[in-house]
Amino acid sequence: MNAPATTPGTPRHPALDGLTTALRELLGPRCSTSDSEREHHGHGESYHPTKAPDVVCYPQTTDEVSRIVKLCHQAKVPVIPFGAGTSLEGHVVALHGGVCIDLSRMNAITEVNAEDLDCTVEAGVTRKQLNEHLRDTGLFFPVDPGADATLGGMTATRASGTNAVRYGTMKDNVLALTVVLADGTIVKTGGRARKSSAGYDLTRLFVGSEGTLCVITEITLKLYGIPEASSVAVCSFPDIASAVNCAIETIQCGVQVARVELLDETCMRAINRHNNLSYPETVALFLEFHGTDAAVVSQAQMVEALAEGHGGEGWRFAATAEERSKLWQARHNLHYALLALRPGASSWGTDTCVPISQLAACITEIREHAKDAPFPVTALGHVGDGNFHMGFLIRMDSPDEIREAERLNGLLVNRAIELGGTCTGEHGVGYGKAKFLRKEHGDAAVEVMRTLKASLDPDNIMNPGKVLPPALDRV
Ligand SMILES: Cc1cc2nc3c(=O)[nH]c(=O)nc-3n(C[C@H](O)[C@H](O)[C@H](O)COP(=O)(O)OP(=O)(O)OC[C@H]3O[C@@H](n4cnc5c(N)ncnc54)[C@H](O)[C@@H]3O)c2cc1C
Repeated sequence: MNAPATTPGTPRHPALDGLTTALRELLGPRCSTSDSEREHHGHGESYHPTKAPDVVCYPQTTDEVSRIVKLCHQAKVPVIPFGAGTSLEGHVVALHGGVCIDLSRMNAITEVNAEDLDCTVEAGVTRKQLNEHLRDTGLFFPVDPGADATLGGMTATRASGTNAVRYGTMKDNVLALTVVLADGTIVKTGGRARKSSAGYDLTRLFVGSEGTLCVITEITLKLYGIPEASSVAVCSFPDIASAVNCAIETIQCGVQVARVELLDETCMRAINRHNNLSYPETVALFLEFHGTDAAVVSQAQMVEALAEGHGGEGWRFAATAEERSKLWQARHNLHYALLALRPGASSWGTDTCVPISQLAACITEIREHAKDAPFPVTALGHVGDGNFHMGFLIRMDSPDEIREAERLNGLLVNRAIELGGTCTGEHGVGYGKAKFLRKEHGDAAVEVMRTLKASLDPDNIMNPGKVLPPALDRV
């Protein structure tokens, strides 16, 4: 959803005019204060109230990013890094105004080391751009959030996607970073070695920091060989519990699925309508297997047998590469297919992750709470690692619907945390989920995060208002 950017009456920062002049001198037309550019950068793809930044900058080098941040640091004006703007928890909303740094023009793939299975990219490169570039090398980068996000944004949100069960998340796939700190200092973290015990792991600190600690300008990533063989199957189930239990058993048996996606009956209806497909409109698993020809066949046979034991029916392979890619395209476009089910509605999507043994109980319990909701409620997820989303197709002009969505979101997130899980498996905290951080991590851990933030960004200019909940003395 793209709600209009609002610019409610917070006072303009007194240093802004001088800062804007200095930024114009540095960047020329790559510094904009136009309403349309500001509006575009004041929101992600979520339902959260929006606010536009005062200025939008388009740097082309790490050095330019450093100079922009130095100027903001001197003026004590907020900095909001921006990738593709596809985040879902209000991450890029300029809550306190300030300067948006749009990294999209830093989109060079600077190095591909095929023999070492790694590459280095600028932060504005998108995941599809990287895979297109790698196409003829026999390598690929597996982390695949539904949107064509930038690798900077994916690093900053610790993103994952359908492949995480096999290849891990951004946390597992970033080897090194170049970042610009809040005072403009350029720091390089990590390296190309696959392992290192040298010092504090700054790379992991910055992965998932959501623009609150630094601007990421360059990322070194792990790459993988395109598997010799792969196959995709769809299987229908009588209910959520059967499908989830099949996924859990698959993981527990050690079958190395590359993807195992749960879609409920509403998702399947949306997929059929939006893509002109004709799958049974009941709960389904989409599964993908990678390996040698023989390994793929044996993995698929094993999971088919497990599925039968859980009432799975209609096991069907996507026969051709084209059919496979159509199927995953349909899965990745599900957000838009669901929106089309209720014209005029917005999607409030929430993301949690629990230990896999708790998954079926968690989803079933929340669906029960949601059965009388006045709007469609959907469940889908990357269930192989316990990560799932519930979506509420609500009308933003209905206070009753918003209240009910908030209630269900709170129930789900609190339940996931109680079951040993997290308030967000992959979308991140932004400002939408900051209120759950204390329950998940405890006061002491949140205070350590606050101390880290204060030591790296004492003036709180880096994406202020995101990730961290209010200080204890202000609660
Ligand atoms: C249809 C749809 C499907 C999605 N599916 C998934 C999914 O399966 N898995 C998943 O993880 N997410 C998913 N997302 C969410 C979103 O795509 C991810 O959060 C993505 O990582 C955001 O990247 P971006 O480039 O759009 O970042 P933005 O939205 O521009 O920014 C996100 C955050 O990162 C910060 N940031 C951006 N670039 C930098 C940088 N260079 N340096 C420092 N901070 C930076 C921003 O300040 C902000 O806090 C989905 C979103 C949509 C709309």
